Amino acid sequence: MKQIYFDLDGVIRDTCREVLGYYPHQWDCYGPDGRPYCQIIEDNLRLLYTAPVTQYHEVIKKLPFVNILTCQPESWRDFTCCWLYEHFEFHQFDVIFVNHADEKLKILKPGDVLIEDYPLFSDYSQIALIDYPYNREVKGEIIRIHEPEELDAFLIMQRSSIRTQPQDIVLNEVRK
Ligand SMILES: [Mg+2]
Repeated sequence: MKQIYFDLDGVIRDTCREVLGYYPHQWDCYGPDGRPYCQIIEDNLRLLYTAPVTQYHEVIKKLPFVNILTCQPESWRDFTCCWLYEHFEFHQFDVIFVNHADEKLKILKPGDVLIEDYPLFSDYSQIALIDYPYNREVKGEIIRIHEPEELDAFLIMQRSSIRTQPQDIVLNEVRK
């Protein structure tokens, strides 16, 4: 069964706005004091909890179930889980943490789609890209999404593919 996965930061949680206050043109960027983006977070992990939602959260929250696939250092994950419980219903989501963004592509099966903002994948054939200044060079994505309405329309098109209950994945495993 096809799955739709959602990246977290930049897609659901607006970490950029919380950390920098703007959307940079480069993926590897620095704060005003010269610290790398990830170091700013590492120095104040509470930012992961206080970050606001993106404009896409409202559309995504309407789904009966949300598969989240996110790359996070170990030290970020507790704060991220707290954020998720704050912004989704308790049984509404499942989260898979990976250590490097490239691991996400290995999790996708044929036909799966990942909603993402990351600009450095080797292959975008299964990626629906949320448009930001730092990913404008990307080519080969399924669709580039600029507004919540576009995401909503894309998700409606994919509707039959969206898993409605977490148990489905277990049943599929058993049937194999
Ligand atoms: Mg992201």
